[in-house]
Amino acid sequence: MLGSMMTRPLLISDLIEHAGKYHADTEIVSRETDGSLHVTTWAGVARDARRLASALGSLGMTPGDRIATIAWNNHRHLKIWFAVSGGGMVCHTINPRLHPEQLVFIINDAADRVLFFDTTFAPLIAATRAHLTTVEHFICMGPRDPEVEAAVPGVLFFDDLVDAGDPAYAWPALDENMPCSLCYTSGTTGHPKGVLYTHRSTVLHTFAISLPDALALSAAETVLPVVPMFHANAWGIPYTAAMVGAKLVMPGPRLDGDSLLGLIDDQKVTLALGVPTIWQMLLAAAAKSGSTMDSLRRNVIGGSAAAPSMIAAFRDLYGCDTIHAWGMTETSPLGTANRPKGKHGDLDADAMALLRLGQGRPPFGVDLRIVDDAGCPLPHDGKAEGALQVRGHWVVDTYFGRQDNALTADGWFDTGDVSTIDADGFMVIRDRTKDIIKSGGEWISSVDLENIAVSHPGVAMAAAIGAKHPKWDERPIIVAVRAEGAEPAEHDILALFDGKVAKWQVPDAVVFTDAIPLNGTGKMLKNKLREAFGNTLIERGL
Ligand code: ADP
Repeated sequence: MLGSMMTRPLLISDLIEHAGKYHADTEIVSRETDGSLHVTTWAGVARDARRLASALGSLGMTPGDRIATIAWNNHRHLKIWFAVSGGGMVCHTINPRLHPEQLVFIINDAADRVLFFDTTFAPLIAATRAHLTTVEHFICMGPRDPEVEAAVPGVLFFDDLVDAGDPAYAWPALDENMPCSLCYTSGTTGHPKGVLYTHRSTVLHTFAISLPDALALSAAETVLPVVPMFHANAWGIPYTAAMVGAKLVMPGPRLDGDSLLGLIDDQKVTLALGVPTIWQMLLAAAAKSGSTMDSLRRNVIGGSAAAPSMIAAFRDLYGCDTIHAWGMTETSPLGTANRPKGKHGDLDADAMALLRLGQGRPPFGVDLRIVDDAGCPLPHDGKAEGALQVRGHWVVDTYFGRQDNALTADGWFDTGDVSTIDADGFMVIRDRTKDIIKSGGEWISSVDLENIAVSHPGVAMAAAIGAKHPKWDERPIIVAVRAEGAEPAEHDILALFDGKVAKWQVPDAVVFTDAIPLNGTGKMLKNKLREAFGNTLIERGL
C-alpha cells in the first residue's frame, strides 16, 4: 500500500454532533405553534435528537423505516430530522397543504410507521387516520394535551418521549448510501413521486450550498428559513446551519409579513430564504411599518421565478442582496445560484440587474445541459432554448418504490423546465415545458410576459397562459389579480407590452380574477387557470 486517508462515511448524525460540540451555545429560536418564542441551542438540539432516537428505537423502529412529519419549521421538527436520519430511519416530510386524498396516498405509498404532527394538524389526523393503513404511532409535537388526546385516541407526545429517552444514545455506524429522508414532488405535474435522499447525497449537498458562491452560510449568520421543511428539505438549510454552526430562526406557523418582519428585526436575521409569495407579503409589511430591515443582508428566492421588481425593491429600499436560486425536489434541491463572477465587477447597473435576474450557475457537483426535441445537446450561448437536464451527486436516480431509473438513456435527469445557459454557466428558466405558450408553432415564454404585467402598480399577481385560438392554436393571455384598491383597465396593462416584446408575443387579452390558485409550495397552478380561462379568446369571438 502506498498509504491512505481515513475513510469515514458521510452521515447526518455527524452534522448534529459537530453542531452540538463546536457550536454548543449558538441559539435556535423558534416560534411555537401557540405563538410564543422558544429558545434552545445546538447542544440542546443534539441532546434531544439523541434522546428521541433512543425513544424511537424503544418503539420498535429499525433502520430503513419511514417516519413521517406534518409540521411547521420549529425546534421539535429539527430534532426529529436529526433523530430519525441519524438513527438510520428515513424522515418523510409531508406538505400539510396537500389535498387529504394525496396526503393519504403518499403516507400509504411510503408505508410510514410513525407520524409526528404539530397540534395545528390534529383535526387533519383525526379526519384521515382511518385511511392510514401503515401508521402504528401518532406522535403530537408538544407536551401532553387532553384536547389532542380526545381527537386522536392513543396518541403519544413528543415531550414525553424525549424526557424518557437516553441522552447518551450512540448513533449507529451507517453506510453513507443508506436513505436518510424522503420528500414527494408536489404533484402539480401528476401523481406525487417520492425522492429518497441518501446520507451521502445530503452531506455533499450540505457542503455545496454553504460555499461562498452558493448561499455562503457561516457561523456568523442568523438564518431564517421561511421555506418549509416539507418543501424540498427547506432547501437543505437545517443541515447546512448545523454544518457551519449558524444561528437558526424558525418561523413556526406564522408566515404572514408582519410576523416575519418581527422575527427579522428582533432576532437580527442576516439571511432569509423563501418563495416569491412570501417576499411579496414581507415587502408589503415592511412598507407599511417603515422598518428598514437593517440586519437583513441577503435573501434567497427560489421555487418560482423572482420578478425584477422584487429583486430591485430588496436592493434599492433595503440594501439586501437577492440570490436567485433554482432547484427542485429531485435535485435536493440546489441546482443553481446566482452569484456574479469577478469579471462582472465592471458591469453597469442595468447589465448587472439583468445578470442577477437569471437563476444562476451550478456549483461543483451539479452539471447542466439543454437539449432539443430529439435529445441533442444545444450550445451554451445564452440564446438557444432547450429542455434543461441535470446530473450530479445529489440528483435523483430512481424514485421511491420504482424499478426503473428516472433518467435519459445517457444518464441525465430531465427537469421539465426550458432554459438557456450561457458560456459562464448562467442558466435562465424560460418556462416549464408544459406551461410554455405555443403560438403558431413559435414558443413564447410566460416568464417575460408575467414580469411585464406585474410591473404595473395596479397588478398584485399575474399569470400568462396559452388560451385556445382557432388560427394560432394558442395565444398568450394574462390572468391578473388587481392590487388592493386599484382598478387598472385591460388596455393599460396591454399598453405596457409595447416595445418590450415582439408584436406577436403581446398578449391578446387580460382577464381579472380574485385570486390565482397556488399549490402547496406557492406555485401558480396554471393547469387550473387554463381550465378556467383557456376559452377566453374563443368566447370573446377573437
Ligand atoms: P414541483 O416540480 O412538483 O412543482 P418542486 O418544488 O420540486 O416541485 O419545483 C421544482 C420546479 O420549480 C422547477 O422545475 C422549476 O420549474 C420551478 N422553479 C424552482 N426555482 C425556480 C426559479 N428560481 N425560477 C423559476 N422556476 C423555478
